[in-house]
Amino acid sequence: MGVTENLAAIKNTLPPTCTLVAVTKTHPVETIMQAYDAGHKVFGENKVQEMRSKAEVIPADVEWHMIGHLQSNKVKHIVPFVSLIHGVDSIKLLEEINKQAAKIDRVVNCLLQIHIAEEESKFGFSEEELDYLIEAYSREKFSFVNIRGLMGMATLTENEDQIRKEFKQLKQHFDEIRTKNIDGLQFDILSMGMSADYQIAIEEGSTMIRVGSAIFGGRTYH
Ligand SMILES: *Cc1c(COP(=O)(O)O)cnc(C)c1O
Repeated sequence: MGVTENLAAIKNTLPPTCTLVAVTKTHPVETIMQAYDAGHKVFGENKVQEMRSKAEVIPADVEWHMIGHLQSNKVKHIVPFVSLIHGVDSIKLLEEINKQAAKIDRVVNCLLQIHIAEEESKFGFSEEELDYLIEAYSREKFSFVNIRGLMGMATLTENEDQIRKEFKQLKQHFDEIRTKNIDGLQFDILSMGMSADYQIAIEEGSTMIRVGSAIFGGRTYH
């Protein structure tokens, strides 16, 4: 099946409360344009330079989501146009986004990445760090960041129970923070689910899935 068919098949099963981020990393502009021409406007990239060069040539009416690990020194390059930064995994990074966004008087949407997987390698805050950060936020405020919610990645495993357990955990954190009704905290997005596990993620309450290979096929890294 082609990009258009894959996209339509996923969108058909998507609840109206869930947004699809089409993950275009490593794929050329021509491939992205197939999705664009099919009416899709929300794209995710994991590298700053790649996202910038694609954003320069793709029509401006799309949303660009930074889904990868973001280094502080690269924040300034995406702050002017990024729609949502999914992987905020340190207070230092959040402060840098706030600082660069203040310079251009733009409020940038962010998600806090939470470590839910078993693997050590995955980035993200622990539960304790998350609590600390939310506390700090409610005291100090970061005027130029809008913390819209949480993002997480489940363990890379065939074990569906494990994946489901991790998504449940993330949803629980999300609900706990939401019910605190912290002033100024919009907290309406839960980004979880990729090609292999998005169906489970939706069942567990995801409001945003990040899907690459199930739309565009496998990736070749150079
Ligand atoms: C690459 C990537 C995805 C998409 O992965 P697929 O398995 O191709 O759907 C989702 N989220 C993040 C953070 C990624 O880096």
